[in-house]
Amino acid sequence: MTPQQRLLFGGESAPWEEDDRELRSVAQVVFSEAPYGPYDYAVPEPLRGRVQAGKRVFVPLGRGNRRRTGYCISVQSGVASSRRLKNVLKVVDEATLWTPSLLRLAQWLADYYLCPLGQVLETIVPSGVRGAAGTRMKTLLSVPDAVLARMAELRLPPKQRHVLEYLAHCTDGLTAQEIADRCGCSVAPVQGLFKKGLLEATERRVSVFVPEVKGAAEHAVHALTDAQQSAVDAIVAAIRGSCSRSFLLHGVTGSGKTEVYIRAIEEVERHGRQAIVLVPEISLTPQTWQRFQARFARVAVLHSQLTPQERNWHWQRIAAGQVSVVVGARSAVFAPVPQLGLIVIDEEHDPSFKQDTAPRYHARTVAQWRAQQADVPLVLGSATPSLETWQAARRGVIERLGLPRRVAGRTLPEVRVVDLRHEWKGRGALSRVLVTEMHRALDAGGQVILLLNRRGFATYIQCPLCGEVVRCPHCDIPLTHHHHDATAKCHYCDHEESAPTACGACGGTQIRYSGTGTEKLEKQLAACFPGVSCLRMDGDTMRRTGAHEKALERFRRGEVRILLGTQMIAKGLDFPGVTLVGVVNADIGLHFPDFRAAERTFQLVTQVAGRTGRGEAGGRVVVQTFSPDHPAIDAAVRHRYEWFVNHEWESRRRFGYPPASRLVRLVVRGADERATERAAEQLAEAITRQQQGVADVRVVGPAPAPFPKLRGKFRFHLLLLGPKLPVLRRIVSAVRDGIDLGDAVQWTIDVEPQDML
Ligand code: ADP
Ligand code: ZN
Repeated sequence: MTPQQRLLFGGESAPWEEDDRELRSVAQVVFSEAPYGPYDYAVPEPLRGRVQAGKRVFVPLGRGNRRRTGYCISVQSGVASSRRLKNVLKVVDEATLWTPSLLRLAQWLADYYLCPLGQVLETIVPSGVRGAAGTRMKTLLSVPDAVLARMAELRLPPKQRHVLEYLAHCTDGLTAQEIADRCGCSVAPVQGLFKKGLLEATERRVSVFVPEVKGAAEHAVHALTDAQQSAVDAIVAAIRGSCSRSFLLHGVTGSGKTEVYIRAIEEVERHGRQAIVLVPEISLTPQTWQRFQARFARVAVLHSQLTPQERNWHWQRIAAGQVSVVVGARSAVFAPVPQLGLIVIDEEHDPSFKQDTAPRYHARTVAQWRAQQADVPLVLGSATPSLETWQAARRGVIERLGLPRRVAGRTLPEVRVVDLRHEWKGRGALSRVLVTEMHRALDAGGQVILLLNRRGFATYIQCPLCGEVVRCPHCDIPLTHHHHDATAKCHYCDHEESAPTACGACGGTQIRYSGTGTEKLEKQLAACFPGVSCLRMDGDTMRRTGAHEKALERFRRGEVRILLGTQMIAKGLDFPGVTLVGVVNADIGLHFPDFRAAERTFQLVTQVAGRTGRGEAGGRVVVQTFSPDHPAIDAAVRHRYEWFVNHEWESRRRFGYPPASRLVRLVVRGADERATERAAEQLAEAITRQQQGVADVRVVGPAPAPFPKLRGKFRFHLLLLGPKLPVLRRIVSAVRDGIDLGDAVQWTIDVEPQDML
């Protein structure tokens, strides 16, 4: 029973107890770990007014009354109830961290993604902000008015008098040390005054963080193309009309999408409102945010490499309305701007917008909700829109704005396909065609980008005598050989062992290291292009903070001629000097057991091809593949987006996969294979029982997940498919609230999953 209901219906007590009942203040509190609540607590008299929704509180929990931090989500005063409630012990936050609108957002998100509210609250306000990083409580001293009035009569030693006279003219409170410094004495006279009761002390939280200020790059302002202008007009009209319309800005690579965002944000700024711009984490480079800094005076940047102090500093400025643009990765969708005016999601198809731990939210879905609540437009930009967004545009739910051509009369690059089935001679990863094209580009003074979406040296290690492949003991995934430290590593869990010289199964010593990763490719390039400076960007070389930034800067300055790397280099980079892009193996990822494998491959090849031909000198692309006829690759090399999505849509419809249906995935994990499988079956039975009589819901599985063992846990999954997400959600939440699979397994709910590992 909620406090309101208790108020209306009089709770569980009998009518004659009416007079004994006191009117109380009751707080609803949730937790980020099980049990999640919400639970009711009484607010004792001294804490009334200070316990508020959106603050953290200390409360006793469970039989042992252990003290836990909870999140207060509402307070009802004047509740008549004689039910015994435990008391709130202490209020943690001085000010509310979760504003009423953030609390509404959190509640919606918890319901949508079937995730405990406490976990959502923790995600929305990052720990640096919760912990007030970069600030300190200080005791500030000042002279009370009563003392000022009788100052002349006081008999004081000279130093104490000097201090008191100084403070009499100070308007702000100062710490004891600050006073001593300014008066040129020790803290002793200050303490003396305090002991005599001539100074009063107040506690205040002050910022002690000094941010590093970086200069913005110069950036030219261009006259818009006609297509850019029409797009800007449509978005500006929605901003002026306070209309929560969603737009798809579908622009080929190099068509000037960012310029459209900037013009729309200028309109938002004129209205005194704020814009949020989301970009994929790896394209959140200085180049990206400097473009915004060059055009707007007050920009905040939020990304994963910020220290807690920096994050809190930005957050406080955002909440105070001191910035007009927030540029950030996924979680910036929660930025607490006071007057939201627009949300932009660049590269909206990028999988990094979905969080892969609870709450498993998609920033696009959250953005849609926020924009709708605030009556402001949402702009989704991409050269390769996701099938979800494309489908919504086709149905007219989203308005499509097209930028079909590159700016300044530039054309899309010409793409040449190398069929590795015929051309590959087993000598390194580069075909003769690609090597020739590279020489041509380099001789003409151009730069080259090579994509190989696999790090490490050799991608698998096998004994040719018995066929044994070296696998991770925890994940059962083949280990990758890393040459520089002679190790074999698991790319999933970071398990690491020394590279074997003999087979663990048969003792054979002819171990073969095959397959090519970026590390091996770098070696081959050094041999093939002696004297040409080459730089590798992947998860191994880019570990250190700022490494990414430095590498791109060297490439921009032309110190590096060949940039090779994983998908890290495929996105968002705008380097006019690049005249050739080579895709070393377009097939990686194509045969993944995931219904989005083709879509992802199409997007990756299109994106990396789009990195060339952005300058005067034009550009070319070479794509090496074993499957030149695969629709994803064929469509990418011919720049045929419409054809590809139509083809892909047909196959999704045929198999009933999103966006032709809605999907919820359940994963059961456990250390014991049999017990995990049994738990998955038990879950499936409960789902099937719950689903009886509900039309149009399909349950697939349980089956071993595509990665059946990760980090030492066996994994089984179960898919629920149907036309209506609320129906799927209702079934799953009913089962969740009524089932206990025991302690030997864990299970997770992924609403609208983006990958199926
Ligand atoms: P996209 O995001 O669509 O790939 P960008 O926004 O990065 O494209 O723009 C590509 C380049 O074109 C940038 O260097 C940008 O400054 C430039 N640009 C944008 N609009 C125009 C325009 N109207 N005329 C000339 N150059 C432009
Ligand atoms: Zn592993």
